[in-house]
Amino acid sequence: MKQGLAIYGGKPVRDTYLPYGKQCVDKKDINLVVDVLKSNYLTTGPIVREFEKKVADYVGAKYAVAVSNGTAALHIACLAVGIKEGDEVIVSSITFAASANCVLYCGGKPVFVDIDPCTYNINPEEIEKKITDKTKAIIAVDFTGQAVDMDEIRRIADKYNIVIIEDGAHSLGSEYKGKKVGSLADLTTFSFHPVKPITTGEGGIVVTNDEELYKKMILFRSHGITRDRELLNSYEEGPWYYEQLELGYNYRITDIQCALGISQMDKLDDFVDRRREIVKRYNEAFNDMEEVTIPFEPDYSNSGWHLYILKFNLDKLNCTRKEIFEALRFENIGVNVHYLPVYLHPYYRKLGYKKGLCPNAEKLYECMITLPLFPAMSGEDVDDVIEAVKKVISYYRK
Ligand SMILES: *Cc1c(COP(=O)(O)O)cnc(C)c1O
Repeated sequence: MKQGLAIYGGKPVRDTYLPYGKQCVDKKDINLVVDVLKSNYLTTGPIVREFEKKVADYVGAKYAVAVSNGTAALHIACLAVGIKEGDEVIVSSITFAASANCVLYCGGKPVFVDIDPCTYNINPEEIEKKITDKTKAIIAVDFTGQAVDMDEIRRIADKYNIVIIEDGAHSLGSEYKGKKVGSLADLTTFSFHPVKPITTGEGGIVVTNDEELYKKMILFRSHGITRDRELLNSYEEGPWYYEQLELGYNYRITDIQCALGISQMDKLDDFVDRRREIVKRYNEAFNDMEEVTIPFEPDYSNSGWHLYILKFNLDKLNCTRKEIFEALRFENIGVNVHYLPVYLHPYYRKLGYKKGLCPNAEKLYECMITLPLFPAMSGEDVDDVIEAVKKVISYYRK
């Protein structure tokens, strides 16, 4: 090799480190946030409701409850469904831990289901095998932004009278059969962490068409406390009066954060367009290389692409996944791995989950790497990633 890998002392493809994900915040975002700081309400004010309406309208849902983060959104969704001790909840195996932790918060048991080896999403055929008379809900994650096969999951859920919670942390702006994610499941959660499709710093939201679930989530967001006359046991007490009806939490989001969210929503479609452009360029660059497998997108999906995952066909390479990963980091490409199957975390192993539970998820984990992908990436950034991947592959090619 003439041009050595940076990890062996060669010149890196880039001088500066390119992260795998990053927020895109401009002057307009900043001005809207500053306006709220000068207003009367920093929290629980009109901007929270405006943001909720904006997200609900965008995805095509009736109700939205904005909260402090995506994990809180999953938690109040599970609480609203009534997950409790003794209940089982079906969960995707390759996801961020929060998708399953929310079940544990409620005393329920996550039942992990293997992925479809093509889409990397929960495999509907495997779901049905794991259903028992204790199964109350399915938490289906739109992994990398690609919508789960909702018609199949809906068919199973209806057959067994199970609620569908869609973890859309990756998929705000994504579509399933022409419909926006957020209009399909009984409850859909989104996250506004800085690497996600839009950001509020920290933040999350649950959308639903079910008024009853909506009212419960409003309670759980704020201590289980209400002033709603329809809900109070005795409102004759006086105008100051409120009651705690449930054991809720303080999961409120601020108007400051929601101002950023409103401004970001205006740019969501542009963000998604840019992500799709970058993915197209990656796919074109890697499609013909037998050492890697590009993401597969089924006809029903129009992904907003939160993550770009490249699968390395290690039998064609003289190295391990770890060596490829480290070599790319030395080229200043901020690669990552999403994710270790949740049940392989030590906490879950202590609960009794064992290796071998979801073989396809474990196999994928062994050979996948996430490449940088965010709307503010320049054409040169994209070129650098492609060049670095090709450089590393040609070095380790068998
Ligand atoms: C980010 C993420 C969450 C949690 O969202 P936070 O806002 O970070 O709490 C949940 N599920 C998935 C799949 C995520 O990627």
